[in-house]
Amino acid sequence: MTSFFRTAFYGFCLLNLMSGAALSQDQAASPTVEAIVKTKVVVATRVLPPFIIEDGGNFSGFSADLWQELARRARVEFTWKKTSNVKEILAAVETGAAQVGIAAISITAAREQQFDFSQPMFESGLQVMVQNEAEDDFSMRKILGFFTRGAMPYLLGLLALLIIVPGHMVWFAERRHKEPAFSSQYFPGIFQAMAWALSAAAGQQNNSLNSRIGRLLSVAAIFISLLFLTYWQAELTSSFTVEQLQGGINGPEDLPGKRVGATTGSTSAIYISSHGSTLQEFQKIEEAIAALEAGKLDAVVFDAPVLLYYAANNGRGKVRVVGQIFRKENYGILFPRDSELRKRVNEALLKMREDGAYDNLYDRWFGVQGGQRI
Ligand code: GLU
Repeated sequence: MTSFFRTAFYGFCLLNLMSGAALSQDQAASPTVEAIVKTKVVVATRVLPPFIIEDGGNFSGFSADLWQELARRARVEFTWKKTSNVKEILAAVETGAAQVGIAAISITAAREQQFDFSQPMFESGLQVMVQNEAEDDFSMRKILGFFTRGAMPYLLGLLALLIIVPGHMVWFAERRHKEPAFSSQYFPGIFQAMAWALSAAAGQQNNSLNSRIGRLLSVAAIFISLLFLTYWQAELTSSFTVEQLQGGINGPEDLPGKRVGATTGSTSAIYISSHGSTLQEFQKIEEAIAALEAGKLDAVVFDAPVLLYYAANNGRGKVRVVGQIFRKENYGILFPRDSELRKRVNEALLKMREDGAYDNLYDRWFGVQGGQRI
């Protein structure tokens, strides 16, 4: 009996203990679970296709989709805060107006001093974009530019001299001859004489002159025209090669002294202003590209995937990306210093890389599109 009661008593205590333990486990666990479920953050972003695309108040694009999946996996509730540029994203996270920043934010040494970044979420880099001038596009600006470049103005001046001076000399000389080759009236005689000088400069002499000075000049013209034509040809060739065939800017080495656009506060803006080009900053990369298309800029330097995406879509045929990626950069998700969220987001990001979700997302946005990988 005693042993029955003792067993029952112990059994009762054990049960109590177990439920108590279970209860206290629950009580201990619930605030943590609550905290995870209820983490609410504001995420600062900016529109930058194909990373952030705004459609009807919603955000899509590689970075927006990535963040949505990361937030789901890390159990983070969030609201978007739209800003105008990367500078404003940094400011929002710095002031605490946002707890996360995501778009196409390059991880740089200077930013790392002030903020914490996630693991790299995308490999990027800077590239150059120029206006696409079709080879048969002979705009007035192009033609004028062609005649005002290099030694061309001097050659044109020399040609004018070679027409006016010898033209007058032969007209005067011929006029005195009994059988003049040109009309002895100043008009139209001088025009005939200058036409002779022009064809002489071009290496062709149609009229044979009768005066002694005229004949002497005809012989001199053979040598002068030879020199002149050789020089003219060399100048034309170099002018064509530099401007027409290669388009002038083929990479970052051609940018010093040029008008180059980028977005406000971006890594490309810093690059441009520290490499001898005239920087023009824009809020949206589309505005910079519009200025390029309008001939107000010579080039745009920006993140390669953004430029390639534009060139393959809206900018097809209007712009082209030249040269290699000349500065590699990684994008990261931005957090304030010592954010406890970073570890959870990093874990989710690494898991996405391991289980293939990252690759699927990458292919969705950067896969083969219309035969062209962007
Ligand atoms: N990757 C650039 C940066 O972080 C993007 C700038 C931008 O969003 O315009 O500076």
